[in-house]
Amino acid sequence: MEILVATHNRGKLEEMRAIARGWPVSLKGLSETGIDLDVEETGLTFDDNALIKARALFDRWAGPVLADDSGLCVDYLDGAPGIHTARFAGRGASDQANYRLLLDKLEGVPEEKRGAHFHCSLALVNPQGEAVYQGRTDGGIALEASGTGGFGYDPVFIPEGEHRTLAWMSPEEKNAISHRGRALRQFLEERFPHADPLRRRR
Ligand code: IMP
Repeated sequence: MEILVATHNRGKLEEMRAIARGWPVSLKGLSETGIDLDVEETGLTFDDNALIKARALFDRWAGPVLADDSGLCVDYLDGAPGIHTARFAGRGASDQANYRLLLDKLEGVPEEKRGAHFHCSLALVNPQGEAVYQGRTDGGIALEASGTGGFGYDPVFIPEGEHRTLAWMSPEEKNAISHRGRALRQFLEERFPHADPLRRRR
């Protein structure tokens, strides 16, 4: 099954392709279609925003589409930045500016109060209807940034049971526990219950 993913982000597409490897789907990115999707994310939840993006794309594409909306929810900040994660330090802010602001806001907050989780809502819209799948990764915010891989807030997020930030993990390690990996696998397992059972153990 060919599915169009609502992203121009090559890294995200490659990550999703790696997660879906072995499943009977072929993920296509927006850049392969010439569609320029510029949608205002006006929803109040991750689910709303993922659906807004998926519906807007489905209006311009005949086949199944997937759109994700993800972000970081920090306990000490009452769930912020949440749906505003990408623009925490302002519209167009760099990844580094965003996570530096987060570290500043948690200055002096002890480790046991630095709990956080990544959330991903993944919306599927196809001619048969709509569905939203969710995934989360629990962990905490590091005292300082470290690690050279990944993107976004990876250098400041330590998954539960780990001592390293996500930015130290290989793509395979991250995909196995990431919010996006979990949401995407939920979709794959539901849609293709008889495909590749080995992958269902994760
Ligand atoms: P998006 O919805 O994937 O565009 O992500 C929204 C925000 O969450 C952006 O600031 C991303 O950098 C951040 N984000 C999403 N997923 C991850 C991740 O796996 N690691 C680090 N940051 C992420």
